[in-house]
Amino acid sequence: MADLQARLEAIAAEMAAAPDRGRVADYIPELACIDPDQFAIAVCLADGTECAAGDADTRFSIQSVSKVFTLAMALGRLGDQLWSRVGREPSGLAFNSILQLEHERGIPRNPFINAGAIVVTDALLSGHAPREFLGEYLRFLRLAADDEDIHVNEAVARSETETGHRNFALAYELRAHDNLHHPPDHVLGAYFHQCAAEMTCRQLARAGRFLMGAAAAPRLLSPARIRRINALMMTCGHYDGSGDFAFRVGLPGKSGVGGGILVIVPERAAIAVWSPGLNAQGNSQLGTLAIERLARAQHWSVFG
Ligand code: GLU
Repeated sequence: MADLQARLEAIAAEMAAAPDRGRVADYIPELACIDPDQFAIAVCLADGTECAAGDADTRFSIQSVSKVFTLAMALGRLGDQLWSRVGREPSGLAFNSILQLEHERGIPRNPFINAGAIVVTDALLSGHAPREFLGEYLRFLRLAADDEDIHVNEAVARSETETGHRNFALAYELRAHDNLHHPPDHVLGAYFHQCAAEMTCRQLARAGRFLMGAAAAPRLLSPARIRRINALMMTCGHYDGSGDFAFRVGLPGKSGVGGGILVIVPERAAIAVWSPGLNAQGNSQLGTLAIERLARAQHWSVFG
C-alpha cells in the first residue's frame, strides 16, 4: 500500500513536469476551456485498499467512459440480443466515423464507437422516457461507485447538443437502416447527458470495481459478461488507438474525450486516470503514459 501510494505520487510528479500534454477536446465548446495542466490517478485494489495522487477529487466529464456503464446496463437488461444490433470488432477508424456505418448497413462495429454507443442508449430507452433512462443510469453509477454525489453537467450536455452535428448524422444513418427505434433527438439527448456525467478519479476507480471480477467488488453483472466487457475494452476501448494501448499497457481500458481513462486489472485492481490533453486518436496523452508507467512498475498485464 505504501509502495503503491509512493508510486502514484512519483507518476503524478513526473506528469506535472511533462512538456507535451496533448490538446484539450475543443469540438465540444464547454470542454475547450478546461485547464490542461491537471492530472489525477486513483487505484482501488481487490482487497478494498484505495490510493490516489494529483487532482483526484476534481470532477471531469467522463464522456465515452460512460459507454462501459451503459453497455453493462444493456447486457444486464437485454442480454445477448444486443449483439444483433451492434458488432464486436475493432473499427480501426475515428470514434465518430460515418464511413463504415454506411458501408456496413447501419450495424456499428462495436459498442464503444459513437454509432455503437448510440444504439446501446437507444436499446436502454426501450419502454422508458429519456428522463427515466438518465435516472437509471445515475443510479447505476452511484451504486457502482458507492457514492450518491455523482451528477450530470447540464452545460456540457447542452454544449454538445448544440454542436454534435456528426452524432446527429450517425443517428439519422442508424435510423435509415432501421437500427434506431426512437427519434434521433430523444436518443441523442439521452446520449449527450450520459457523456456529460462528471466524476472524480476516486469515484471512477470505485465505479470500475465491478469490472475486476474480484470477490470483494460489488456484483453488478455475471462473471461471463464482465469478461466480455473487458475483452471489448481491450480491443475497442481506445478507438483507432486500441492496438497501441494494448501494446503499451496490456490491460483493458476505456477512454473519453474529457481525458479520463478507466483501466481494469482483472481480479486485482480498477484504475482511473485523468489528464485533459488528448493525443491524435482522442485519448488522454498523459493518462496513457501514466498507466503505462504504473502497469510496468506493478507488473500488471493480462499477458503475464
Ligand atoms: N460525447 C462525445 C461524442 O460523442 C464522446 C466521445 C468520446 O469521449 O470519445 O463525441
